[in-house]
Amino acid sequence: MSAAAAVQKERLIETFMSLVRVDSPSGQEAALSDALAAEFKELGCSVYQDDIGNLIATFPGSRQGAETVMLCAHMDTVGTDVDIQPIRQADRITSDGTTILGADDKSGIAVILEIIKVFRDNPEIVHPTIEAVITVQEEIGVVGSTHLQKDRLKSSWGLVLDGGGPIGSITVSGPTSRKYTFTVHGKAAHAAIAPEEGVNAIQAAAAGIAACPCGKVDPEVVSGIGVIQGGVATNIVPDLVTVQAMIRSRNDEKLESWSQKMEKAFQDGCDAFGAQLTIEKHDSYFGYLLDESSLPWQKSKAAALQLGFPFSTHDSLGGTDCNNFNRAGIPSCAVSTGMANEHMKNEYILIQDLVDSARWVITAITI
Ligand SMILES: [Zn+2]
Repeated sequence: MSAAAAVQKERLIETFMSLVRVDSPSGQEAALSDALAAEFKELGCSVYQDDIGNLIATFPGSRQGAETVMLCAHMDTVGTDVDIQPIRQADRITSDGTTILGADDKSGIAVILEIIKVFRDNPEIVHPTIEAVITVQEEIGVVGSTHLQKDRLKSSWGLVLDGGGPIGSITVSGPTSRKYTFTVHGKAAHAAIAPEEGVNAIQAAAAGIAACPCGKVDPEVVSGIGVIQGGVATNIVPDLVTVQAMIRSRNDEKLESWSQKMEKAFQDGCDAFGAQLTIEKHDSYFGYLLDESSLPWQKSKAAALQLGFPFSTHDSLGGTDCNNFNRAGIPSCAVSTGMANEHMKNEYILIQDLVDSARWVITAITI
């Protein structure tokens, strides 16, 4: 029997639905992390759990010296929804309409568990050692995979089961994400009696905001202003404003040139009003660009062709755990699990897509 043919549809659906019923908003994954640690141990894995709940479950390969391959998914669900009730319909699984479903990314975890069960039940299938990496706090800025001690991993390549779109599609690039805090220092004064003695930080910040690049400013660059805070009362010239902004790009040169435009916009705004500017910035994760000859690309392509799924590659301006694993030297791409309308209350997953995702991924790692 081929590995793909050994995937059990009903078992996979049941695993997925039971995972969905365990609450796990970002930062509140402890119960799910502990339950998964127990389940992976039961399946014959050695399990490492770090202090924030990330799991590395290692299922030994079918022969000595087998290659090690990472399969990654994240256990947190976006936002604050809890008490999620999955509903199985004829061709799909949905929530009851009052919450997200959480197929992002419990579909990924369900597929990984199913693959390990297939290997456990079918010892004749030759397979690599699996490092199942199940992360926390992915949705709030890939926090879990940033924190994870990645030098514990032995994988030579990996697949991150955290994508939508047709089965057979992979994401081969991701951006660097840079976060800014622009602090505009004005000078306080009585706004009615002596406004001329003040420097209005709101006006200076406003000039900066108006001139700052915002939105999809280039096919490979997106920037945005997300938070503005400042001012005390209408009778005080405001002396302090902070503006939080971000920029993401897959292209390092463009990242730098557009970052300079953002900084210049705020500097010019401050100069025009006599305010002072301080800039804090840090890169919260780093971009990657997979090569066509890389193992995740080649293996996922070969598996898609073998199973008759249309293979396609995509670039993304969203961050995933892939960013951190590629940075750590484990070439990885995000693969589709069939999740659809993720982050919304009408999120769903087609049952056939969930099953096909498992068939595709298990073929990719055994081909
Ligand atoms: Zn996700």
